[in-house]
Amino acid sequence: MRVWIIFLRGFVLKIYYPLLMLIGAFLKSKKVIFQSHIVNVNNFLVKQLNYKINKILLLLPHCLQNSKCDVRLTFDVFKCKRCGQCKIKDLIELAEQYDVAISIATGGTIARKVVKELRPDAIIAVACERDLSSGIVDTYPIPVIGILNERPFGPCIDTTVNLKKVEDALKWFMNSKIQEKKL
Ligand code: SF4
Repeated sequence: MRVWIIFLRGFVLKIYYPLLMLIGAFLKSKKVIFQSHIVNVNNFLVKQLNYKINKILLLLPHCLQNSKCDVRLTFDVFKCKRCGQCKIKDLIELAEQYDVAISIATGGTIARKVVKELRPDAIIAVACERDLSSGIVDTYPIPVIGILNERPFGPCIDTTVNLKKVEDALKWFMNSKIQEKKL
């Protein structure tokens, strides 16, 4: 069963996703819906298994940071002064509470670099449909739960995220870890 789910996830990400993106190149209005669909299918498949997890990474997009904030967080998110003007403060507190790694990426290249350096066993990623779907594909077979950001001011600026969804994902991986230990 486990092998089949890993295989199915690989099929979805490596074959079904490129196929959908090819169709999306012609049906541009549907592309975001396809990307969101891939994230949902991935999340569903990831949650069908338990994992041996030592290190969880909470990977965030740069656009969550308040655009007026001049603190540079790319290489050290803990430089945040926790003023509460954006959700970065709450996300750092969640990472501390659950003792997981946290990082901010300004784009796909930096995100891949962070994953390569930290080598997490599982990732909770926040991003838009495009970055999330392509990031999940790039990091396969690492289990990733993807959470879409919210964009009240449009794309790429002062975005936000539902903290409960992030915490639920953290709890899910934590429970998975506990169950694995019991086996
Ligand atoms: S919470 Fe942190 S990142 Fe957000 S505006 Fe304040 S100092 Fe900047």
